[in-house]
Parts: sequence; structure tokens; C-alpha cells
Amino acid sequence: MAGSANGGGLYLATSLPDALAALAERGAAGAPMAGATWIMRRPDGRAYVGLSRIAALRRIAVEPDQVRIGACATHAELAAALADLPECRVLAEAAGRSANPSVRAVATVGGNLCAHDFAAADLVPALLCLDAAVEVTGPGGTERLSLADFLAMRAGLEPGRVLTELIVPRQAVRSAHTRLPLRVAGDYPVAMVSLAATVDGGGRVEAVRLAVGSVEPVARRWPELEERLQGQALDPDSVAQAAKGLLDGFQARDGVEVPGSYRVRVLPALVRRAVAAALA
Ligand SMILES: Cc1cc2nc3c(=O)[nH]c(=O)nc-3n(C[C@H](O)[C@H](O)[C@H](O)COP(=O)(O)OP(=O)(O)OC[C@H]3O[C@@H](n4cnc5c(N)ncnc54)[C@H](O)[C@@H]3O)c2cc1C
Repeated sequence: MAGSANGGGLYLATSLPDALAALAERGAAGAPMAGATWIMRRPDGRAYVGLSRIAALRRIAVEPDQVRIGACATHAELAAALADLPECRVLAEAAGRSANPSVRAVATVGGNLCAHDFAAADLVPALLCLDAAVEVTGPGGTERLSLADFLAMRAGLEPGRVLTELIVPRQAVRSAHTRLPLRVAGDYPVAMVSLAATVDGGGRVEAVRLAVGSVEPVARRWPELEERLQGQALDPDSVAQAAKGLLDGFQARDGVEVPGSYRVRVLPALVRRAVAAALA
């Protein structure tokens, strides 16, 4: 088998077939490892198969209608690749502002989406509001699914299957990612809002996707607010006002850094900032 054994239960794969074969060999004891920034917080003795040396998984291809992002592209690589694509601004901001520069240099897109017990993943709400799809590859081939469907099944993803690519449609949207970091929460945001909208010539909302992260255990869209904004002026203050009246549906998570009620309370202000940034 190609690749190199590196002791300590880590095998560094050199190609996707090599990684899939190594994972199949390890069975339930194995797991993929990307940047290891999440795994290192709670090492669990699993037999890891490193993906970061697989060049094909790090590619970012900007095509006329979509951007294809290899799961092992780092946050820093993603932010740089999207810097000149206004329609992907929300994602570039999420990738470029998460954590800190050292973490962004190694943490991968795939790790961010696969860490199912990580509520504060910046890329998840940004990708939800861009209507992204993902591809998962395993012994049975490659399956494409919406990001929302992937989030619903990722905790049960078999260790022999690997998230290989993300597909982001290029649409003429105004977008922005806003997050609230607090010193007590370290580098992690206590709440975040991602927004992508199209407006007509009169500044009224034609279509909008709005996603909230770090408030509940898994990021999700905010359908009540999206519905309320349909056909309305995309104005920061009135959107924040509408958000204030629609906070009841959140089942916020309490944390050592802040109570869940605080995460919900800051959402209208984050929504206001997101709208203002998207219009700027
Ligand atoms: C101090 C600190 C602060 C941070 N703050 C933030 C923040 O504010 N916002 C933010 O978004 N991130 C933050 N992160 C980074 C966060 O850990 C990563 O964004 C991400 O969750 C993990 O990416 P990784 O490549 O390191 O994944 P890993 O740690 O390598 O893996 C994470 C999980 O995903 C699985 N996995 C990884 N890749 C794949 C794949 N391709 N297919 C299938 N399974 C896979 C692994 O088996 C593991 O279960 C922070 C990290 C640190 C250390």
C-alpha cells in the first residue's frame, strides 16, 4: 500500500484510493484526519488516516457556474481563492475570520463540516446560505447531497466514507457573514449570522437565505425571518426589528462562556450588521 505509516495510529495517505483502502482496513477503529485542529482537543486513540497530503482533495476550481472546493482545502486557502468573487463573499469572510491565522492555515473545509459536535463552525452557516452541496466518497462510490441533508446524517457517517468535495453555485447574491467573538469564549464565536440575498431594482428582497450558527448545536436556516423579508426593503434596522419578533423558535445551547439566552438575544444585532455589510 502507498503512503507512510507514522506511528501512533496515524497513516498518511497519498491518494483518495489509498485513503479509502486504509480506512476499509481499519474498519470501525479508523477515522479520517484532516487538519487535526478539532481531533487534537480530545484525542481518542482511533487509528487515523491522514488526508492532508492528498493534492486532489485540496483543489479549488472556480468554474463559470459553480466553485468546486476540495474537502482538504484550508480556511486560509479558501479565503484567498474566493477573494475576488463577490458572489461568494459570505464564504470568504467566514473562512478568513474564523479562529486565528495559525488555525486557519491548517483547519480544513471538510473538517469544519464533519466535526458534528462543533456548534461554532463558521463555514456551515455560510455554506447553508449559498445553497452548497457536498460529495461523499466511499467503497460504494460517490454520493452528492445537499449540505442540510449531510448535516442531518454526518454524526452517523461510516468511518470508511470521506467528504471529498463541496459544490457552491455562483449566483448574483449580496452576502455577508457576521460573528460575535467574546474574550470569555476564546477564538470561538458565541453566535453568527450568514446572509445571501437578491434584491430587485427598488431594493426589495426577491430571494433570501439566512443561516444562524453557534446558537443551537447545529447551524440552520431561519425560515420565519426569510419568509418575513420576502418582498420587503432590505434595510438593516427594519430587518433587525423583524428578527426581534421571531426569536422564540431557537433552542439555544448553554455554555460555560454564555447562557443560551444570550446567544439568542444578540441575533437581531448580528442580523442588522449582516444586512448593512451585504449592502455595502
Ligand atoms: C483554538 C481554536 C479555535 C478555533 N476556532 C474556530 C472558529 O472560531 N470557527 C471555526 O469554524 N473553526 C474554529 N476552529 C477550527 C476547527 O477546529 C476547524 O474549523 C474544524 O472544525 C476542524 O478542521 P480540521 O481540518 O482540523 O479537522 P480534524 O480535526 O482533522 O477533523 C475533525 C473531524 O472531522 C472528521 N473529518 C475531517 N475531514 C474529514 C473528511 N474529509 N471526511 C470525513 N471526515 C472528516 C475527522 O474524523 C474528525 O472527526 C478552531 C480551532 C482551534 C484549535
